[in-house]
Amino acid sequence: MFLYFCKSKKNTDMFKPLDINEKEKNTSTEPTETERVKCLIVGSGPAGYTAAVYAARANLNPVLYEGLQPGGQLTTTTEVENYPGYPEGVTGPVMMEDFKKQAERFGTDVRWGMATKADFSGDVHKVWIDDKKLIEAESVIIATGATAKYLGLEDEKKYAGGGVSACATCDGFFYRGKDVAVVGGGDTACEEALYLSGLCNKVYMIVRRDVFRASKVMAERVMKTPNIEVLWKHQTEGLYGDNGVVEGAALVKNKGEEGEEEVKIKIDGFFLAIGHTPNSGIFKNFLETDAVGYIKTIPGTSKTNVAGVFACGDVQDSIYRQAVTAAGTGCMAAIDAERYLSEKNV
Ligand code: FAD
Ligand code: NAP
Repeated sequence: MFLYFCKSKKNTDMFKPLDINEKEKNTSTEPTETERVKCLIVGSGPAGYTAAVYAARANLNPVLYEGLQPGGQLTTTTEVENYPGYPEGVTGPVMMEDFKKQAERFGTDVRWGMATKADFSGDVHKVWIDDKKLIEAESVIIATGATAKYLGLEDEKKYAGGGVSACATCDGFFYRGKDVAVVGGGDTACEEALYLSGLCNKVYMIVRRDVFRASKVMAERVMKTPNIEVLWKHQTEGLYGDNGVVEGAALVKNKGEEGEEEVKIKIDGFFLAIGHTPNSGIFKNFLETDAVGYIKTIPGTSKTNVAGVFACGDVQDSIYRQAVTAAGTGCMAAIDAERYLSEKNV
C-alpha cells in the first residue's frame, strides 16, 4: 500500500534533459520519413493523455509519442489516493492505463518513440522522433514532465517502495504520527518539511551547508515550527532497516572537516527535496524557460512564446506538480491548440 519511489540510475539518465548540441551532432543524417500532423503531443503522463482526450474529441487527430516512460511518473508508484474519481484509490500503473484507453477511445494515435530534436523556427513546427522520423506539426503540445533529483545512493534503490520518496504531498499521508527526514535546504525542502510537520511526529531536515538556500520567509517558518529539527552541515551516507523498509539514516556531520562525526537518526520516511529537472532540454533553443528549465507559459494559458506550441504538466509547473494539475493543464493545452488551429483555418 505504500507509495515510494527511487528512479534507477538508468532511468535518471534516460530523463536527463538532452544536451541539444549533443543531439544535433547525432541528427546530421536526413530523416528517413516525414509525416505531417495537425496536433503532436509529446509525453504520455496525465498531462499528455488528458490533452489527447480533448484534442481527439475536437477532431485534431492527435499523434502522441510516449517517450521512454509510457504513462509517466505515476507508473512508478503504487497507490494514488488523491486523484478525484477513484474513491478507493488506484495504483499509478492502472490509472495511467485508464488514461491511455480513454485517449485511444477517441482516436488518439499513441506511439512508442522519443522526441530527440525540435525546430520551432518556422510556421510548421518540426520534431524529430528517435533521431529518424520527422514530424511536421501544425501544433505541438509538450507534456514531457519533470524528474526529481536523487542523491545517487545505492540505498535509495534498495529502499525504493520502502520509505524513500520524492513527493511529500503524494506520500506524506502514509507517515502520520511517524518520524521522517527531508533532504535539502531550498524552498521545496522547506515546503515539504512544513507540510510533513502537520502530519508527522518529527521532521528532520538534512541540510548540507550551514545555511538554507530557501527564501527568508520559508526559512523563518521552518525555524518557528517546533517539530522540525534542522541538521546543519549533515550529509546522508546511507539508509538502514530490515526487509527493505527504512528504519533510519546514517549521516555525517562536518564531512571532511574538523569535528567530522557520524550521526544516526531513526526515521520511517526519507524524503528527497533537492530539486527537479524539467524535461525541456530539446526545446530550450526555441522556448523561454526559467533558470531551472521549466517552460514559461503565458499565465492562465498553456501558450509558450512560440505560436502553436503549448506546454502542460510538470514541464511548465515548478509549484504544484500533481497529477490532477498536470491533467488540468493538459486540457488547457488541447483547448488552446484547437483555438489556435481554428483561427489558422487548419
Ligand atoms: P510525467 O508523468 O512526468 O510524464 C512525462 C511523460 O513525458 C512520460 O511519458 C515520458 O516518457 C514523456 N517524455 C519525456 N521526455 C520525452 C521526450 N523527449 N519525448 C517523448 N516523450 C517524453 N501526483 C499526484 O497527484 N498524486 C500522487 O499520489 C503522486 N504520487 C507520485 C509518486 C511519485 C513516486 C512521483 C515521482 C510522483 C508522484 N506524483 C503524484 C506526481 C505526478 O506523478 C506528476 O505530477 C505527474 O505525473 C506529472 O504529469 P506529466 O504528464 O506532466 O508528466
Ligand atoms: P533549489 O533552490 O535548487 O534547492 C535545492 C536544495 O537542495 C539546496 O539546499 C541544495 O543545497 C540542496 N541539494 C542539492 N543537491 C544536493 C545533494 N546532492 N545533497 C544534499 N543537498 C543537495 O531547489 P528547490 O528547493 O526545488 O527550488 C527550485 C526553485 O523553485 C527555486 O527557485 C525556489 O525558490 C522555487 N520554489 C519556490 C517555492 C516557494 O516560493 N514557495 C517553493 C518551492 C520552490 P545547496 O544550497 O548547498 O546547493
